[in-house]
This record gives sequence, structure tokens and C-alpha cells, in this order.
Amino acid sequence: MASPWPRRPRLVAGNWKMHKTPAEGAALAREFVALAAADPAGKGCEVAVCPPFTALAAVGEALRGTGVHLGAQNMHAETHGAFTGEIAGSMLAAVGCRFVILGHSERRHGMGETDEQVAKKLRAALRDDLTPIVCVGELLAEREGGKTTEVLVRQIAAAYAGLDAATTRTTVIAYEPVWAIGTGKVATTEQARDAHRVIRATLDQTVGAGVGSEVAILYGGSVNAGNAATLFAENDIDGALVGGASLEAASFWKIAAAAR
Ligand code: PEP
Repeated sequence: MASPWPRRPRLVAGNWKMHKTPAEGAALAREFVALAAADPAGKGCEVAVCPPFTALAAVGEALRGTGVHLGAQNMHAETHGAFTGEIAGSMLAAVGCRFVILGHSERRHGMGETDEQVAKKLRAALRDDLTPIVCVGELLAEREGGKTTEVLVRQIAAAYAGLDAATTRTTVIAYEPVWAIGTGKVATTEQARDAHRVIRATLDQTVGAGVGSEVAILYGGSVNAGNAATLFAENDIDGALVGGASLEAASFWKIAAAAR
């Protein structure tokens, strides 16, 4: 199991998706670290970047000793074996990853990843000493059809059923409405707050009373330097999973600074 967080940490994590070669990723990481060193405004907020697999080693080297964490965007649930093209959690830990994003909507909806697979990966990540960032969120049609709560309850219950409270507390959840990812349409603070409350209540029901209030829940979906502070002012939003705006050091730093 990954080492426990202090209760409800502030966390801003950058999901670089399929962007950056090792050299480009290391340069971006160095630029970000230089900004952070020059302006300690973001101290008090944990920061992670999640490059593609091929850039993990180079970015990890650039981040060494800086306090900025390294994360991956996906993993396989098995420890090793005949799984061509896949990466095990232990391999990610061996190159210095602390985090792994699981169940991102681009995997659930683009590559058919199921609730069951996400649940298996969650257990595997914990086994491999990684801190999972478990992504959940509804499609636009599901929101418009009044099914947001149903979807969130299903995704969280499937992922967390059978986990104990102590383990659950070491994980991080990202609420990412699919209609907000990469679209420029950020959820309102109220929409995000309501979703985070549904997630906390579902953790209480699935794992145990009180757990929901102790798990860090990030909002993700078109977060940028201009809207981050408004989102972070909401007590139930503990940070952000950031896609596009994490590919530019200055904007990612402004988001981290807003989260402290
Ligand atoms: C994401 O990929 O998790 C994400 C939130 O992307 P963006 O910030 O670009 O909407």
C-alpha cells in the first residue's frame, strides 16, 4: 500500500496524455520546477505530472529531489506475463512513479475499459505501492438524462467494494465529467461540489461511514489558470486533474498556486 496521505491533501496532477518525447517532457518538467522554485506560492499543495510511459524516466530524472511527484496514466492489473504492449505497476514504481491514473474517460469510453477492470487495477496499484487516482464521471447524455448520480454511484461502488477504510484513505479520486474534458466547458462549482458529495456519500456506504470525508477528490475537466481558484474555493474540491493546461509550465504553476 502506498504511504498514507495527511488527511485530504491538496493535489494538482497534470495528465500529459499522448504528448511529449522524453527530451520535451524533461524540458517542460525543468521549466515547471524553475517556476516553482522562484515563487513558492504553491507550497502546501502536492503536485504531480503524468507523462507518457516513454517519458517517465527522463521526467523522473528532471524532477528528482524537487518534491514534484511522478505519475503514469495507466497500468495493467497483472504483475507480469504475456500482455503485449502493457506495463505493470511494479515497473512504474521502479522508474519512480508515486501515482497512477486509473479509469480515465479516454480509456473507459475510447478503449472500452470496464468498471471491473478499473477495480482490478485499483487493487493492483495499491499492491504495487502506487497511489491511484481513480477517475469517474458521466457523459453529457447521462447528465442530460438525469443519470449523473447513478453513474457516479455505480463507478465508485464497483471500484471500492471490498476495500477497507485505511486503504481507501490512501487513494485519490478525480471527478471528471466527460463533457468537460478537453472541451473548454468547465463544470460549475455547484455541479462539481454536488458530484463530489455523491462520491463521498457512496464511499461512506460502500466502505464505511466517515471515509468519504477523508478521501481527496479532485475535479478534472477544462481547468485552467483562470478558473482554478473559483473551483478550489469550494471545500469539497481538493485539487485538480489537469490535461491541456498542464502542457504549459506557467499555466500549470498558476493552477498549483491557486490550490494551496
Ligand atoms: C484530463 O485529461 O484528465 C483533463 C481533465 O483534460 P483537460 O484539462 O484538457 O480538460
